[in-house]
Amino acid sequence: MPRPPSRDTLNELKAAVGSGSWFDSQEDLAPYIVDFRRLYRGVTPLALLPRDAAQVSKILEICNRDEVAVVPHGGNTGYCGAATPDESGSQIVLSMRRLNRVRRLYAANDSMIIEAGCTLAEAQTAARDADRLFPLSLGSEGTAQIGGNLSTNAGGTAVLRYGMMRDLVLGLEVVLADGRVMSSLKSLRKDNTGYDVKSLFIGAEGTLGLITAASLKLFPLPADTATALVAVDSPQHALDLLSMLRTAAGDQVTTFELMPRLAVELTVKHVAGVANPLAQGAAWYLLIELTSPNPRQNLAALLTDELQRAATEGMVEDALIATSIAQSLAMWKLRESVPEAQRHHGASLKHDISVPVSSVPKLIEDGSALVRRLAPEGDVLGYGHLGDGNLHFNVSLRPGADSTAFLRRGEQLERAIFDLVDSLGGSISAEHGIGRLKAAEFASRADPVELSVMRDLKRTLDPKGILNPGKVLT
Ligand SMILES: Cc1cc2nc3c(=O)[nH]c(=O)nc-3n(C[C@H](O)[C@H](O)[C@H](O)COP(=O)(O)OP(=O)(O)OC[C@H]3O[C@@H](n4cnc5c(N)ncnc54)[C@H](O)[C@@H]3O)c2cc1C
Repeated sequence: MPRPPSRDTLNELKAAVGSGSWFDSQEDLAPYIVDFRRLYRGVTPLALLPRDAAQVSKILEICNRDEVAVVPHGGNTGYCGAATPDESGSQIVLSMRRLNRVRRLYAANDSMIIEAGCTLAEAQTAARDADRLFPLSLGSEGTAQIGGNLSTNAGGTAVLRYGMMRDLVLGLEVVLADGRVMSSLKSLRKDNTGYDVKSLFIGAEGTLGLITAASLKLFPLPADTATALVAVDSPQHALDLLSMLRTAAGDQVTTFELMPRLAVELTVKHVAGVANPLAQGAAWYLLIELTSPNPRQNLAALLTDELQRAATEGMVEDALIATSIAQSLAMWKLRESVPEAQRHHGASLKHDISVPVSSVPKLIEDGSALVRRLAPEGDVLGYGHLGDGNLHFNVSLRPGADSTAFLRRGEQLERAIFDLVDSLGGSISAEHGIGRLKAAEFASRADPVELSVMRDLKRTLDPKGILNPGKVLT
């Protein structure tokens, strides 16, 4: 069991990074003790900002020897309280933001080696500067870091085409709990030498090791893009359209995002510069994007043909294909402003869940019935990555309704929604992780054998339990 650090340990940790690379005043520590959603406020005696893997190694060696708990801290945009220390005051914070170099970009291998503290936007820019694409794309990309993206196995709006963060990794450099450095920064597409150890650290939320650098896959830049905003009357028609587009365009279908009417109305109302160019009052809206590296693909024509055919067959009510970059950006702004609009609208209960794509209509129908029964003060605002079967099935407090009663119902509603998700063969965390927020629910719902394998791995890799205790595994 980790214990509070002694004064000597704290001094040794400060010396490991040198002056200017640690904070211990309440004022300086403030950004490190509250999570993005302000669900948790912790206490820490020290935040360390190492500059390289050797310093991270020294820190973990000391912490492991003295049994001091360490909380890795990336961009702090996570939604599950996983980068926040607990209230004991005994956990130190390890900020990764100064490990922010692009070590090497191999255009010929379509790969780059980049440090964990680079933001996702910096990684995208480095790739673009070499005429390549790093395709992970999140609303938080200006702040979220590569290490955080890896540790949460982040998803986002291009998973349909490129997969989640796990699918974009060729190799990792990881500092283990005892300070040893596992250096496996290969750029290989094929490597069948034993177990896939790097995979363990992806999605582990800092509980198995500290990721200091990654070898990531790059792709050709899109040279042809077609973006459309589409109105449909039901999630089933949205899925029928997805199937039709995939048949016609294969994995050129990069983005397929669903928004209910309420989401669109709230973004237009609350976020400056957002407009809905389609017929008002449609039940559901889709943001669809097709991309190809071939500039002569003529994706706009393909998308126009398919949408016209879908309209004839009664799947589509209205559609607009962007004819300029500005129009495409405006469509994206509408989709990406949904979380902000929801924040302005007031209190909400959030559920990041996934089911097999074909079960999304049932999830929405049965989930909405649960909300009407268990949280009648709220309106369903379920939006997100329909192409991946992943919805942010959120519930927003109706204006003027009793917020205390609404928030009190959160736990019961969450349990009922998770039961529904389980019954549909889904996941209680599609892309945001477990962290502290879902650790208890995860423990009660996961397959017991799988859970015991996870606990065995944790004991093997972190026998003293110093890495991000209380997160993922209870
Ligand atoms: C506006 C907005 C939009 C978002 N959209 C999406 C989305 O579409 N899809 C999606 O998946 N998520 C989304 N998120 C959630 C969030 O941005 C992601 O989970 C992101 O990957 C977290 O990265 P971070 O650097 O902020 O990590 P943090 O929040 O700092 O940390 C997350 C976890 O990773 C651990 N960690 C951080 N760095 C390291 C490291 N180097 N080594 C080991 N462990 C580490 C932390 O201890 C913690 O457990 C969104 C968030 C916001 C605010």
